[in-house]
Amino acid sequence: MDDNLVFRVAVYAGFAIAFVIFWWLSHKDQKVPYGRHHVAAAAATMASVPFIHVMLPTRLAWALMESPPVLLTPLLFSFGRYSSLAAPRVLMSLFFAHYAHRSLFYPLRMRPSSKRNLPLPVFVSAVIFNVYNTYIQVRSVSHYTQYPSSWLLSFQFILGAVLFISGMAINITADYALISLRKSDTPRVSESSRTYKIPHGGLFELISCPNYFGEVLEWLGWAVAAGSLSSVVFFLLTVSNLVPRAVSHHQWYVQNFREYPRSRKMLIPYLF
Ligand code: NDP
Repeated sequence: MDDNLVFRVAVYAGFAIAFVIFWWLSHKDQKVPYGRHHVAAAAATMASVPFIHVMLPTRLAWALMESPPVLLTPLLFSFGRYSSLAAPRVLMSLFFAHYAHRSLFYPLRMRPSSKRNLPLPVFVSAVIFNVYNTYIQVRSVSHYTQYPSSWLLSFQFILGAVLFISGMAINITADYALISLRKSDTPRVSESSRTYKIPHGGLFELISCPNYFGEVLEWLGWAVAAGSLSSVVFFLLTVSNLVPRAVSHHQWYVQNFREYPRSRKMLIPYLF
């Protein structure tokens, strides 16, 4: 089939998929069943999802499900008609850097509450999402959008890159702060073998999920820097996944810790 047609259908489908995910996760109060929401979600709302109780080794599953962008980006990029130009290369390095960290370093650092806490359907959907998303991002940047070299000096690219790098720094700092909580001795709540504590410091004083705030900021920056429909689709897909999950995390903290600071917002400092 014609790649141009496949690409366009894939990009426009992304808008619909983002809408459906957001509607499903928020309107039906569903929770993606991994981490702290696994027990409740798998037992109740998602009980009918096939293989929901098949659990994979957490770290290996994260490394594998986040690896398609690392493996496919260089390959797909090399087929792009603009792959030798500077602007596509710089743009793609931002995308690649995110996934190199997420698939290689993050799984090595994480301390999951249990050694096997990633359900098979979550793993499969993450792999499908990452293959799909890598395809539309890489083809857009390397083949279907023409960026002159002067793009790298434009206000739009610089603003997007600053947002992207700031978001990535916030995301990584917050993820590692959460990971290190499993070493310290602040108040905790236990859910079978799982232990969670109230995070403190930095953006955690303002919002419950700075790691998701950073991730949303990152892909907002990507949408601005790349300025394409594909990059907007990725931003919307991130929002549709992470906003409902941030709401669930926040409610979970409030329900499980009487001393949880009520002034904290869910995702966006002072606003939401
Ligand atoms: P969570 O915040 O749910 O968990 C991050 C890690 O910290 C997990 O290992 C978790 O353990 C642990 N943790 C979280 N809160 C606490 C606490 N209060 N006390 C102790 N340990 C805690 O993030 P996710 O696992 O959902 O996501 C991980 C990364 O992936 C994030 O950076 C996120 O932005 C990104 N992501 C991006 C998506 C996208 O659409 N772009 C979608 C989903 C995630 P445990 O797993 O045992 O709960």
